[in-house]
Amino acid sequence: MEEHLIGPLLLARSTVDRSALRRGDADWLKEVWARPTTRVLVIHDGHTLVRRQGDDVEAVLYTSDDAPEGERYLLGVEDEVAYFAVAAPLPGIDGEADGRVTVPSNLADTPEGRPVVAGLRQVGGLLGDRDAGLLVYAVALEAWHATHEFCPRCGSRTAVEAGGHIRVCLSDGSQHFPRVDPAVIMLVRDADDRCLLARGPQWPEGRLSILAGFVEPGESLEHAVVREVAEEVGLTVVAPRYLGSQPWPFPRSLMLGFFAEATSTRLSVDHEEIAEARWYSRDELSHALATGELRLPPAVSIARRLIETWYGGPLEGDW
Ligand SMILES: [Zn+2]
Repeated sequence: MEEHLIGPLLLARSTVDRSALRRGDADWLKEVWARPTTRVLVIHDGHTLVRRQGDDVEAVLYTSDDAPEGERYLLGVEDEVAYFAVAAPLPGIDGEADGRVTVPSNLADTPEGRPVVAGLRQVGGLLGDRDAGLLVYAVALEAWHATHEFCPRCGSRTAVEAGGHIRVCLSDGSQHFPRVDPAVIMLVRDADDRCLLARGPQWPEGRLSILAGFVEPGESLEHAVVREVAEEVGLTVVAPRYLGSQPWPFPRSLMLGFFAEATSTRLSVDHEEIAEARWYSRDELSHALATGELRLPPAVSIARRLIETWYGGPLEGDW
């Protein structure tokens, strides 16, 4: 069959220039922070403040004067405006600053302009391109910094440098860079162009997705696809084909999407990573979605996009 390019990948819509060549310049960072045009996204435990403006949802951004104190990360520059994230309790959210207050399921019900707390899973697909990109980036950086206060070599404290893109050990001077964990996610097809869907052991009945797993040290992406499918459902796959990627900073994955072709249809489910798996034709899938017997991953996920790319159009029904 003919495939379309995968998309749209809602968490891969970054528009700002990351200014990688300038973020090591401390004077420049100080200067852009002080600009009245600079805008700051406050990030706390993966959450930020958003508000509804008409039909749009936007991130609440502060001037550097109004932003709370906290670790500062340069997110980049767009149209002469510099964007930072500050890791700090969310302004005006007393006592609930651990981010557990979440956006109502229907943002349209909140008064226009009123800031509400939201995480990437909730609003990653609702924000515009610029704000979605800023939030993905801020969530990823915050999660890395939160777990790298100490040097992995000697255990001493580390300090933020280069606008949040390096932590430097205060004792031995070693530099540590934000890490990303590559994970492959693959839509496996059989000779009849059916798609394999599976349920994780902790998931409720009816919640299905495609297979995925982390790339291991010393392994190529293609090998990871073949190994994970064999481990989880006992199938041999060939011809893994890369379709696209998006960050999934929960806390630091990069999802790399593939199609792969199974050489047989006989499944042998491992029951540790997978509770059940079965093949779906397009008709079987749309029927199962229509009856509600099956639900697919949400629109912000690359899994959803891979399934819709195989299916050939949008599908109903979210987790
Ligand atoms: Zn050290």
